[in-house]
Amino acid sequence: MRLVDGAQIAAGWLDGETLQPLDCEGDPTGPLRAERLIAGVYRSLGVFMAERLAVTGAVRIAGASVATGDLLRGWTEQIAGIDPGAETLARYLTDAAVRPPPGEKHLLPGGMTTPLEKVAAQLPVTLRTTVRHISIDGAGVVVRSETGQIRARHVILTAPPSVAHAIDLPDMPAAQRAAGDQLRAIPAAVAILPLGEAAAGDSFAYVPGVGFLTANDGQEHATLVAKGAPAYRLRGWTRDRAAWAKTVTALGVQPDNRREVIVREWHDDPLAGGGFTAPVEPAGDAARQWRTPVGGRLHMAGEAAWADEGHPYVDRAWHSGRRAVDAILEELSR
Ligand SMILES: Cc1cc2nc3c(=O)[nH]c(=O)nc-3n(C[C@H](O)[C@H](O)[C@H](O)COP(=O)(O)OP(=O)(O)OC[C@H]3O[C@@H](n4cnc5c(N)ncnc54)[C@H](O)[C@@H]3O)c2cc1C
Repeated sequence: MRLVDGAQIAAGWLDGETLQPLDCEGDPTGPLRAERLIAGVYRSLGVFMAERLAVTGAVRIAGASVATGDLLRGWTEQIAGIDPGAETLARYLTDAAVRPPPGEKHLLPGGMTTPLEKVAAQLPVTLRTTVRHISIDGAGVVVRSETGQIRARHVILTAPPSVAHAIDLPDMPAAQRAAGDQLRAIPAAVAILPLGEAAAGDSFAYVPGVGFLTANDGQEHATLVAKGAPAYRLRGWTRDRAAWAKTVTALGVQPDNRREVIVREWHDDPLAGGGFTAPVEPAGDAARQWRTPVGGRLHMAGEAAWADEGHPYVDRAWHSGRRAVDAILEELSR
């Protein structure tokens, strides 16, 4: 959709409603207050204008300061992986991929490998083995890895499409490969910041231009997660011991800046390719094409495979797996 700088035009449509100027710099709840303010602009303007007005324009109409606008955009980038400034106000407020809905949150204390390890304890799962080749062969599928070959009637491929490119998939049409390439992952990096003593309680802070900082009760490190453009800067930022130590102190925990900071860049990881699928439009066609089963036997799952639905988190990945399993069960019941 073509965007117009509707700020001036739209201001006239507000029909006399007075919006208080807002300056949220230094206010930890600032991004949420700014969000409420532009939601007010949406209600005043209606869908037609909101579909033609960029977020930056809405921030201006709302009377928010430039710093508040930057805060809102930086905050959203840490959630969705993209700077939403150029997105339409309508998309910003209604697309779950850009602005995930609030709701119940869960913590995996052992990290993301916990569910995998639980499954591997009960089923013949081979962990830490890279798949190199998947092909359809007569009545089945052949999967080759560095340690051997497995044959199956059906296979579900859950590698994100950007890294699946490294797998030899001779039966996948070139157009399907190309569709997968459009489902690009966002840059994401994580830093582990050592603490002088275990954190007494949970704390969280958004560090503008850097990322989300968390310290959890009993842990001897704080975790900094950076998405979007700040993910590329994380390594440089954490090299500045004084800067990260000062930021960590703001959480009410003491840094240990004699120990090394560990930084992991997901966008440089050949098995991850980034954090999760960027909410680029139009993701729908690309996702639908990518998840079309190859030869009726090779099924695609993972959050990227359903990039046209919901938000790019674990729940989307989970539902994608259920859908692939249901498709296979239906096929087997025929
Ligand atoms: C910093 C960060 C924080 C996040 N926080 C949250 C959160 O709090 N809550 C939430 O719900 N979601 C969160 N997410 C999103 C969540 O991590 C993803 O949505 C989810 O991991 C996607 O699952 P997936 O199975 O599609 O892909 P992945 O988790 O990327 O799994 C794909 C797997 O395929 C493997 N693989 C790739 N290629 C091969 C190959 N050739 N052979 C063998 N294996 C291969 C990879 O090693 C990987 O294990 C976060 C993401 C990031 C980056």
